[in-house]
Amino acid sequence: MSIPLSFKGRVAIVTGAGGGLGRGYALLFAQKGASVVVNDLGGDYTGGGKSRMADKVVDEIHTAGGIAVANYDSVEDGDKIVNTAVKNFGRVDIVVNNAGILRDKSFLKMTNDDWDMIQRVHLRGSFMVTRAAWSHMRKQQFGRIIMTSSASGIYGNFGQANYSAAKNGLVGLSHTLAKEGGKYNIHCNVVAPVAGSRMTATVMPEDVMKFLDPLLVAPLVVYLCHESCNETGGLFETAGGWSAQLRNQRTIGYAKRDLTVEDVANNWDKITDFSKNEIPSSGGGTTVAAMERVKASEVTM
Ligand code: NAD
Repeated sequence: MSIPLSFKGRVAIVTGAGGGLGRGYALLFAQKGASVVVNDLGGDYTGGGKSRMADKVVDEIHTAGGIAVANYDSVEDGDKIVNTAVKNFGRVDIVVNNAGILRDKSFLKMTNDDWDMIQRVHLRGSFMVTRAAWSHMRKQQFGRIIMTSSASGIYGNFGQANYSAAKNGLVGLSHTLAKEGGKYNIHCNVVAPVAGSRMTATVMPEDVMKFLDPLLVAPLVVYLCHESCNETGGLFETAGGWSAQLRNQRTIGYAKRDLTVEDVANNWDKITDFSKNEIPSSGGGTTVAAMERVKASEVTM
């Protein structure tokens, strides 16, 4: 039997936790002993309006004997959300950037406002909350951060140019924070969940909605935030009780010092041949690979 993982003494902020996936994270953190800031602006799924939907989740946590406070600020005001944690609980250990909205439109019909709203809530919002928490985490030499991406951000999806750009941006942001945070014991990982929520209710059949219970995504997210979890810079897909890690893969490619357009055309099969491949993990590795392979090509000419 495994030892239960405790979050006693830890303070977790979950953004957009008034419903859906965020509610599941907040409930599980609280059940495991963390003090939780349940943040939610309480708008509709396109970002319109405001309400105190976070209160319901705080009540659920209190009823179950847990510790939580509500916060109704937008993630764009990240410092206010972090202040709620510090004022009520004296610290912030965990940030789960989960708040999100949709403004789906085909690329041709996408307005500046559709684009900007999505970048502001997902990408800038995650930046604002995380940056406000960062100095606290650095000082205490402990932090666990989750960014929420999406299959759309990884693979692209029709009608979601704005959303997929923001969701892929969060992967880049997380990779950098994992590198910058490493020596301060600040870890940052990305989850790309699928779940039945109000966000997916219009596109998912009812039986699939039921199968993809948002509560089943919470164990992966909560584990990634535990002090015993060493994972950082990771990207995970998760849905309905399934969790898996995703990583980059690169072909060996084709190298030639005085490369021409025709060389590229004539060697396209080599450039795109994944039968021999490698798993890169840093930008520095790209430079080294290029230099080594170009030099090797000169020797074998
Ligand atoms: P949801 O609509 O139930 O939850 C999102 C919550 O964020 C809402 O409660 C909303 O009020 C809140 N919110 C929106 N803008 C906010 C702001 N500016 N500040 C604070 N709170 C704000 O949807 P969900 O499915 O639970 O989505 C949670 C996250 O997971 C989102 O980032 C979403 O993009 C991502 N996601 C969900 C799925 C899925 O299948 N449900 C798939 C991929 C990614």
